[in-house]
Amino acid sequence: MKIQTLSDLMIDLVRDMFDAEKQLIKALPKMVRTASSPHLRRAFETHMEETKLHVHRLEEVLELLGQPIRAKKCRAMQCLLDEGKEFFELDAPADVKDAALIAAAQKIEHYEIASYGSLRTWAGLLGEFPIKKLLGDSLAEEKRTDELLTEIAENVVNANAEAVAH
Ligand code: FE
Ligand code: FE
Repeated sequence: MKIQTLSDLMIDLVRDMFDAEKQLIKALPKMVRTASSPHLRRAFETHMEETKLHVHRLEEVLELLGQPIRAKKCRAMQCLLDEGKEFFELDAPADVKDAALIAAAQKIEHYEIASYGSLRTWAGLLGEFPIKKLLGDSLAEEKRTDELLTEIAENVVNANAEAVAH
Protein backbone atom coordinates (compact mmCIF):
# COMPACT_ATOMS: atom_id res chain seq x y z
CA MET A 1 0.00 0.00 0.00
CA LYS A 2 1.32 3.44 -0.93
CA ILE A 3 1.31 5.66 2.15
CA GLN A 4 0.29 9.23 1.40
CA THR A 5 -1.92 10.40 4.23
CA LEU A 6 -1.97 10.09 8.00
CA SER A 7 -4.95 7.81 7.56
CA ASP A 8 -2.92 5.50 5.25
CA LEU A 9 -0.14 5.52 7.82
CA MET A 10 -2.59 4.55 10.57
CA ILE A 11 -3.96 1.64 8.52
CA ASP A 12 -0.42 0.44 7.79
CA LEU A 13 0.59 0.46 11.46
CA VAL A 14 -2.69 -1.15 12.56
CA ARG A 15 -1.96 -4.02 10.16
CA ASP A 16 1.59 -4.27 11.49
CA MET A 17 0.31 -4.47 15.07
CA PHE A 18 -2.34 -6.99 14.04
CA ASP A 19 0.50 -9.28 12.96
CA ALA A 20 2.67 -8.39 15.98
CA GLU A 21 -0.08 -9.30 18.46
CA LYS A 22 -0.76 -12.58 16.66
CA GLN A 23 2.94 -13.49 16.81
CA LEU A 24 2.89 -12.75 20.53
CA ILE A 25 -0.12 -15.03 21.08
CA LYS A 26 1.92 -17.88 19.62
CA ALA A 27 4.93 -17.12 21.83
CA LEU A 28 3.21 -16.48 25.18
CA PRO A 29 2.37 -20.12 26.06
CA LYS A 30 6.08 -20.92 25.91
CA MET A 31 6.84 -17.91 28.10
CA VAL A 32 4.25 -19.14 30.63
CA ARG A 33 5.84 -22.60 30.64
CA THR A 34 9.36 -21.22 30.97
CA ALA A 35 8.63 -18.87 33.89
CA SER A 36 9.33 -20.25 37.37
CA SER A 37 7.90 -17.52 39.58
CA PRO A 38 4.16 -18.07 39.99
CA HIS A 39 3.71 -14.27 39.87
CA LEU A 40 5.44 -14.13 36.54
CA ARG A 41 3.49 -17.09 35.18
CA ARG A 42 0.24 -15.42 36.22
CA ALA A 43 1.30 -12.11 34.64
CA PHE A 44 1.99 -13.88 31.33
CA GLU A 45 -1.30 -15.78 31.52
CA THR A 46 -3.25 -12.59 32.14
CA HIS A 47 -1.44 -10.88 29.29
CA MET A 48 -2.26 -13.79 26.99
CA GLU A 49 -5.98 -13.08 27.53
CA GLU A 50 -5.40 -9.35 27.03
CA THR A 51 -3.41 -10.00 23.86
CA LYS A 52 -6.34 -11.95 22.38
CA LEU A 53 -8.45 -8.89 23.12
CA HIS A 54 -5.88 -6.65 21.42
CA VAL A 55 -6.14 -8.71 18.25
CA HIS A 56 -9.90 -8.40 18.45
CA ARG A 57 -9.75 -4.63 18.93
CA LEU A 58 -7.47 -4.24 15.91
CA GLU A 59 -10.01 -6.17 13.83
CA GLU A 60 -12.66 -3.75 15.06
CA VAL A 61 -10.44 -0.79 14.15
CA LEU A 62 -9.96 -2.09 10.60
CA GLU A 63 -13.71 -2.64 10.32
CA LEU A 64 -14.45 0.90 11.52
CA LEU A 65 -12.00 2.17 8.90
CA GLY A 66 -13.80 0.16 6.23
CA GLN A 67 -10.66 -1.85 5.56
CA PRO A 68 -10.22 -5.58 4.94
CA ILE A 69 -8.94 -7.51 7.97
CA ARG A 70 -5.43 -7.97 6.70
CA ALA A 71 -2.10 -8.19 8.53
CA LYS A 72 1.29 -6.88 7.49
CA LYS A 73 4.34 -8.83 8.62
CA CYS A 74 5.83 -7.18 11.71
CA ARG A 75 9.57 -7.79 11.44
CA ALA A 76 10.30 -5.97 14.68
CA MET A 77 8.18 -8.40 16.74
CA GLN A 78 9.76 -11.31 14.91
CA CYS A 79 13.24 -10.07 15.89
CA LEU A 80 12.22 -9.34 19.48
CA LEU A 81 10.83 -12.87 19.78
CA ASP A 82 13.88 -14.40 18.06
CA GLU A 83 16.16 -12.69 20.54
CA GLY A 84 13.84 -13.60 23.39
CA LYS A 85 14.05 -17.27 22.44
CA GLU A 86 17.72 -17.30 23.42
CA PHE A 87 16.52 -16.41 26.89
CA PHE A 88 13.67 -18.93 26.90
CA GLU A 89 16.21 -21.67 26.28
CA LEU A 90 18.81 -20.48 28.81
CA ASP A 91 20.43 -23.16 30.91
CA ALA A 92 20.60 -21.07 34.09
CA PRO A 93 19.09 -21.03 37.59
CA ALA A 94 15.34 -20.41 37.57
CA ASP A 95 15.53 -16.89 38.98
CA VAL A 96 18.14 -15.77 36.50
CA LYS A 97 15.98 -17.19 33.73
CA ASP A 98 12.96 -15.34 35.08
CA ALA A 99 14.94 -12.10 35.13
CA ALA A 100 15.91 -12.69 31.49
CA LEU A 101 12.30 -13.48 30.55
CA ILE A 102 11.09 -10.26 32.14
CA ALA A 103 13.68 -8.22 30.24
CA ALA A 104 12.63 -9.85 26.95
CA ALA A 105 8.92 -9.33 27.73
CA GLN A 106 9.45 -5.68 28.65
CA LYS A 107 11.22 -5.01 25.35
CA ILE A 108 8.12 -6.37 23.64
CA GLU A 109 5.76 -4.30 25.79
CA HIS A 110 7.76 -1.14 25.09
CA TYR A 111 7.54 -1.75 21.37
CA GLU A 112 3.77 -2.18 21.65
CA ILE A 113 3.44 0.90 23.86
CA ALA A 114 5.31 3.01 21.28
CA SER A 115 3.08 1.73 18.47
CA TYR A 116 -0.23 2.13 20.29
CA GLY A 117 0.86 5.55 21.54
CA SER A 118 1.41 6.79 17.98
CA LEU A 119 -1.76 5.11 16.70
CA ARG A 120 -3.87 6.60 19.46
CA THR A 121 -2.52 10.09 18.79
CA TRP A 122 -3.15 9.77 15.05
CA ALA A 123 -6.70 8.51 15.61
CA GLY A 124 -7.36 11.60 17.74
CA LEU A 125 -5.86 13.94 15.11
CA LEU A 126 -8.06 12.30 12.47
CA GLY A 127 -11.18 12.71 14.62
CA GLU A 128 -11.65 8.92 14.80
CA PHE A 129 -12.76 8.86 18.42
CA PRO A 130 -14.18 5.31 18.75
CA ILE A 131 -10.89 4.07 17.25
CA LYS A 132 -8.89 6.26 19.62
CA LYS A 133 -10.78 4.67 22.53
CA LEU A 134 -10.09 1.10 21.35
CA LEU A 135 -6.38 1.82 20.87
CA GLY A 136 -6.20 3.66 24.19
CA ASP A 137 -7.68 0.64 25.99
CA SER A 138 -5.00 -1.66 24.58
CA LEU A 139 -2.31 0.94 25.31
CA ALA A 140 -3.41 1.09 28.96
CA GLU A 141 -3.21 -2.71 29.26
CA GLU A 142 0.28 -2.78 27.73
CA LYS A 143 1.42 -0.11 30.18
CA ARG A 144 -0.10 -1.96 33.14
CA THR A 145 1.66 -5.16 32.06
CA ASP A 146 4.97 -3.33 31.79
CA GLU A 147 4.54 -1.88 35.30
CA LEU A 148 3.58 -5.26 36.71
CA LEU A 149 6.70 -6.84 35.17
CA THR A 150 8.86 -4.15 36.77
CA GLU A 151 7.23 -4.87 40.12
CA ILE A 152 7.79 -8.61 39.79
CA ALA A 153 11.41 -8.05 38.78
CA GLU A 154 12.08 -5.73 41.67
CA ASN A 155 10.21 -7.61 44.36
CA VAL A 156 10.55 -11.25 43.49
CA VAL A 157 12.92 -12.22 40.77
CA ASN A 158 15.91 -9.91 40.96
CA ALA A 159 16.28 -10.34 44.70
CA ASN A 160 16.48 -14.12 44.24
CA ALA A 161 18.70 -13.95 41.15
CA GLU A 162 21.07 -11.76 43.14
CA ALA A 163 21.10 -14.30 45.98
CA VAL A 164 22.09 -17.06 43.55
CA ALA A 165 25.24 -15.11 42.62
CA HIS A 166 26.50 -14.87 46.19
FE1 FE B 1 -0.81 -6.31 23.03
FE1 FE C 1 1.63 -6.69 25.14
